[in-house]
Amino acid sequence: MLRITLLGTGTSHGVPMIGCDCAVCRSTDPRDRRSRPSILIELRAGPIQPRAGADGVAGSHVAAAVRTILVDTATDLRAQALAHDIRRVDAILFTHSHADHVMGLDEVRRFNVMQNAGIPCFGDAQTLADLRQMFGYIFDPPAKPGGRIPQLTLFPIAGAFSLGAVEIVPVPVLHGRRSILGYRLGAFAYLTDCSSIPDESWPLLAGVRTLVLDALRHRSHPTHFTVAQALDVVARLAPDHTYFTHICHELPHAATCARLPAGVELAYDGLVLEVADD
Ligand SMILES: [Zn+2]
Ligand SMILES: [Zn+2]
Ligand SMILES: [Zn+2]
Repeated sequence: MLRITLLGTGTSHGVPMIGCDCAVCRSTDPRDRRSRPSILIELRAGPIQPRAGADGVAGSHVAAAVRTILVDTATDLRAQALAHDIRRVDAILFTHSHADHVMGLDEVRRFNVMQNAGIPCFGDAQTLADLRQMFGYIFDPPAKPGGRIPQLTLFPIAGAFSLGAVEIVPVPVLHGRRSILGYRLGAFAYLTDCSSIPDESWPLLAGVRTLVLDALRHRSHPTHFTVAQALDVVARLAPDHTYFTHICHELPHAATCARLPAGVELAYDGLVLEVADD
């Protein structure tokens, strides 16, 4: 089994948004408090064997001991790690390099210290190039760094690969005009920041039973699915359970969920999903 914790389910501003007095930003429902988007994936306990035959990235030598995978290092990573008592991060998968998905990268120093090890990071070539540029103090450090910096190794993704006992299938999706990555593990898929799924990615999603999918709001947006567009994806894929994420302050949790079809709901920070990994 995979245990998935939705660490953050909000759009880039987070909810409540700074300086906003709308009903959702002022809501007392804790499900209306949305930090920046990220999930934690914990692999099943017990002996872990690297799966044979997976192709893709270099770096499988780091994979055998992987138990806990973080997807993106969101701006709110520190608060998320404290809220959920995260003690280990064995690998990081990046979807893309937008600020809301990477600005917590410095927080992984704590995991470096606790684990006494570097952390392998996986992403597409564009994302890794952006990280090198955005975090020059990490990837091109001065000769005498002023303090401890994250210890990270970047591995470009070139297809499906294995971490621990599970196969990671990168799923290219369009986020506006930019191609970014969603990820599939077993019967679970995480597609944040998505406005279109290209033809070649639909087969990668066949048979997904639990889907976490971008649905920003009802009004159209150039780089994110609306609720109606996300429901079209749900109709085509027919997963058992779908949870919408990357939600802005225009969708109140309870009222929105009441109008969604059976099997579809808004995710919320702290939601835990248990799904089969094969
Ligand atoms: Zn608001
Ligand atoms: Zn984005
Ligand atoms: Zn985003």
